[in-house]
Amino acid sequence: MEEKAKERLYKKPEWLKVKLPIGEEYRKVRGIVDNNKLHTICESGNCPNMGECWGAGTATFMILGNICTRSCKFCAVATGKPLAVDKLNRNVLQNPLS
Ligand code: SF4
Repeated sequence: MEEKAKERLYKKPEWLKVKLPIGEEYRKVRGIVDNNKLHTICESGNCPNMGECWGAGTATFMILGNICTRSCKFCAVATGKPLAVDKLNRNVLQNPLS
């Protein structure tokens, strides 16, 4: 097969490529989440948009823990009986930047 034809065949479109999770804002969000032991659907759901969202300073928190009672086949969140509500995390979520 011709080289250019191969390249066209195997080259992925730009919209399909996921950005690497890097940058100052990403590290800031990562620090807030890790330092406060917060749960996010971004991580629990293995969301492919983390690099883009966290890089823009956005994350979506799971306020009642990271275990879901449902077991939707398309979702990566752990299934089971939720643990007791972590009141410390709830307080942190009221103002995660403090
Ligand atoms: S905020 Fe962004 S990274 Fe988090 S779950 Fe939503 S789309 Fe995914």
